[in-house]
Amino acid sequence: MSTTFDVINPANEKVFSTLEEADVAQTDLVIAKAAKAFQTWRDVTPGDRANLLRRFSSLVTSHREELAQIEINNSGHTRGNALWEADNVANVLNYYAGAPERLYGKQIPVGGGIDITFKEPIGVVGIIVPWNFPMPIAGWGFAAALASGNTVVLKPAELTPLTAIRLAEIALEAGIPEGVFNVIVGKGSVVGNRFVTNPTVRKISFTGSTAVGKSIMAGCADQVKRVTLELGGKSANVIFADSDVDLAAASAPGAVFDNSGQDCCARSRILVQESIFDRFMAGFEKGVKEFRVEDPNLDSSQMGPLISKKQLETVQSFLGDQDDQVAFTGSAPVGPGYWMPPTVLLPKSVNARTWRKEIFGPVVSVLTFKDEAEAIELANASQYGLSGSIWTNNMGRAIRVSRAIESGNLSVNSHSSVRFWTPFGGFKQSGLGRALGPDALDAYTETKNVFFSA
Ligand code: NAP
Ligand code: MG
Repeated sequence: MSTTFDVINPANEKVFSTLEEADVAQTDLVIAKAAKAFQTWRDVTPGDRANLLRRFSSLVTSHREELAQIEINNSGHTRGNALWEADNVANVLNYYAGAPERLYGKQIPVGGGIDITFKEPIGVVGIIVPWNFPMPIAGWGFAAALASGNTVVLKPAELTPLTAIRLAEIALEAGIPEGVFNVIVGKGSVVGNRFVTNPTVRKISFTGSTAVGKSIMAGCADQVKRVTLELGGKSANVIFADSDVDLAAASAPGAVFDNSGQDCCARSRILVQESIFDRFMAGFEKGVKEFRVEDPNLDSSQMGPLISKKQLETVQSFLGDQDDQVAFTGSAPVGPGYWMPPTVLLPKSVNARTWRKEIFGPVVSVLTFKDEAEAIELANASQYGLSGSIWTNNMGRAIRVSRAIESGNLSVNSHSSVRFWTPFGGFKQSGLGRALGPDALDAYTETKNVFFSA
């Protein structure tokens, strides 16, 4: 018996699509189809595989407006972001189209013959995607997986399945053979969990909450299944007195409120050197008050609604603690939609739960530090270690602090964290393994060593 569910536009709460969700038996059928397709996909010549990925990339580019519009309606992403996200899928496909022809092994000097390593595909790869960046996170997984010769079963989040479904259709149109890239819509506890328990799936690439990530890792242990995890974050934005304080203040709102703060890299803990606190806060307040929270269809929109009523309630449940004072807030539309103004908190101490927990909404906390040592200590006092920014014009300090902060992706005098040419992933409980850049190919291949006696 099939079950259906509604997809809701978070900017107006209207249902705009109704879909069927797969059960375990349907999931198994698609996994079997992907396993069959692997037998031929792995042998497509590197040049042909590269060309297919390039064609897929350019078709995504020709559909960028359509894909972006789906994401605006489904996820409430601003038009600027949604177009960037569609382009990111095209760019990542194009980047990994360079990989099949460059998946080099090594020739290692040994006695008695020749020794060669090969980068072999793993097989069927299960990719589990969250709702916060449906297109990019799907693309980072499937582009690298397909380029390495694997076939893919991908489960989008139930809240945001529509762009993934469209991307799979575009892949077929580009000539990627049937069964190579499959999207299965359904619940995490059903479809996602089946990826973990079905032995035909040889690797899981999961992006989502740390809690679900831990259960997936434990489930994968049963079959020693390969697993990559991209989990939560509580990243620090560290601003030293010797930086361009005005620029740091002006850019701080975007660094946390982009995508309504529903970003694993959100700089949700701001650490400001005591001596510049007042100057920083004045510039920051101006930026927050000017931050445009409005209809995501507008070109000028900088922040849309939150993804769901449940997420809005979760985020709001963090407000009103005795441990926090509200410094100031921005604005938000009233009426239907899951809207919330950007909110800036001053916690009384590092023990405030808003300082420790990932809120995943438009809320940021600000604390001060005295010196470099204290800044590093405070930045590292977190179970997470995904991203972060360091503002200083002292080169020595930039080097020391960026080496000392326990985080996978840091940015000095900017808020860049995700660039598809470079590896992305977390320290500590922010994850395991790396996506993007040259490193992702290691996550989607097995190293085989062959000795030829001669
Ligand atoms: P989530 O609840 O962990 O869900 C993520 C995905 O896993 C969804 O597709 C979900 O399916 C699925 N899922 C849920 N339970 C599962 C299970 N038992 N077995 C297999 N799959 C399961 O996370 P979310 O609420 O969507 O996303 C927010 C979290 O993701 C935040 O903590 C954020 O930091 C993290 N995140 C991290 C990164 C990163 O790159 N590090 C990127 C984005 C998000 P359904 O929801 O459809 O049931
Ligand atoms: Mg969830």
